[in-house]
Amino acid sequence: MNPSSSHAELLATLRQHLGESHVLTLAQEVAPFVEDWRGRYRGEVVAVVQPASTAEVAAVVKACAQAGVKVVPQGGHTSMVGGATPVGARLSEGSAPVVLSLRRMSRIREIDTIGNTLVAEAGCVLQTLQEAAQAHGRLYGVTFGAQGSCQIGGNVSTNAGGTGVLKYGNTREQVLGLEVVLPDGRIWNGLRTLRKDNAGYNLKHLFIGGEGTLGIVTAVALRLHPQPAVTTTAWLTLDDVSQALNCLATLQSIAGDRIAGFELLNRAQLQAVLATFPDIRLPTDPDAPYAVLVELSDTYAKANLQGLLEDALSQLSEQGLLRDAALAASDTQRAAFWHIRHSISEANRKSGMGLSTDVAVPVKSLAMFINEASRAVQARWPELDIVLVSHMGDGNVHFIPRFSFEQWARIPNQAEVADAVRATVHDVAVALGGTFSAEHGVGHVLVDELARLRPPLELELMHRVRQALDPQALMNPNKLLAH
Ligand SMILES: Cc1cc2nc3c(=O)[nH]c(=O)nc-3n(C[C@H](O)[C@H](O)[C@H](O)COP(=O)(O)OP(=O)(O)OC[C@H]3O[C@@H](n4cnc5c(N)ncnc54)[C@H](O)[C@@H]3O)c2cc1C
Repeated sequence: MNPSSSHAELLATLRQHLGESHVLTLAQEVAPFVEDWRGRYRGEVVAVVQPASTAEVAAVVKACAQAGVKVVPQGGHTSMVGGATPVGARLSEGSAPVVLSLRRMSRIREIDTIGNTLVAEAGCVLQTLQEAAQAHGRLYGVTFGAQGSCQIGGNVSTNAGGTGVLKYGNTREQVLGLEVVLPDGRIWNGLRTLRKDNAGYNLKHLFIGGEGTLGIVTAVALRLHPQPAVTTTAWLTLDDVSQALNCLATLQSIAGDRIAGFELLNRAQLQAVLATFPDIRLPTDPDAPYAVLVELSDTYAKANLQGLLEDALSQLSEQGLLRDAALAASDTQRAAFWHIRHSISEANRKSGMGLSTDVAVPVKSLAMFINEASRAVQARWPELDIVLVSHMGDGNVHFIPRFSFEQWARIPNQAEVADAVRATVHDVAVALGGTFSAEHGVGHVLVDELARLRPPLELELMHRVRQALDPQALMNPNKLLAH
């Protein structure tokens, strides 16, 4: 069905508000917005709209509500769980939504170096925001591989984590205030930059991690931190996860909150990176079972972090907790260590059919989780290998059972197998007091898992909140909660 014939009135209203060129309907124009970056999920749309202001977002939402057409908010479209894609929507079935892209709302409105705050529009790309903070001698604490494409509004809506959580916390810990267009088109201005504000329920927390189901975040007030003056990075190799846990505990006693990153990778993960990027060289033995990328930072320019890390590593070595270690001798080498870490997503996309999971368990249970989850999936699917990368200090593991592309092609019921593999991993995590969704959100992929694994009362409360804010169920259909 041609969208312009079935939704002519809505499209005319949208064009009137946004201008012809910001309402996209042609197949080649909408293509980047209707399929996720891994090419796994797709759907059809009435249109993709690109408002340039909060008032325009409000006008779009009101028009869609009036026409009974659903709205999918979209940031950088880097979701790992199909969160911003109109998954499975069909024009012929009347289920196609409008995708509302925030990419034209990318301004940084204000940076305050006394209060250490930054106010930006939702479409501001994370890296642009980090660079703006840096230019003012400040640091924004959230960092991860997709930072060149993902947007701050998407980060807020998924409560993004990444590699800096150990020191600075998740996105939730950075957000001071929000501006949101509600599902009825009204604008909630909660864009306060206060550190203390106990006047009633703290509503911003509903929208942080709300995955676009409760409204559209249009602007964000964020906390900034002092820029570190010195940073030291090392690449360690280890025999097992228990050693890595002991390393983390020892380093925490010695370096305290100077630890800015502690990332664990297994051998299969490193081999995938080396196979995909032949130019990459590992600083230590590529055949070691595990590697850890550790980083310390301090705002005091004279802090001798290199000496501190050397001392800590020699202590760890004496305790038999290390196979080997390499300290980055320059900024270039440090960037090379991080390049290995940031090459993972691309390497995993190319190296097989990885069924990524995003679990978290109490940090002390990490070794047990990895052993038990490996045993459980390999007992049912012995052909799988396990790729593993972990923001270890947060207990967050991307535990990725991986089929080769050939094995995967031979599986007739792929969707069922993918669900069963993930459920096996999730069950182990939940039994250890963990979660099946640590930092990527629920999106489309984990809707059934949320319903299966969260207590009925928690689910009931979530449905009630959604019903209160979006009684028409207009926002981001079939994400987070089924409806
Ligand atoms: C290479 C790579 C590495 C990654 N590493 C990490 C990592 O370490 N940690 C981590 O947490 N995530 C990671 N991710 C996942 C992803 O980047 C994050 O979830 C990110 O926060 C999504 O931001 P986005 O702008 O791309 O949002 P999108 O993918 O566009 O949207 C994500 C969700 O937020 C909603 N949304 C987007 N913008 C808004 C808005 N303005 N208002 C309301 N709802 C909105 C969407 O509807 C959707 O539900 C990674 C992804 C990639 C590709």
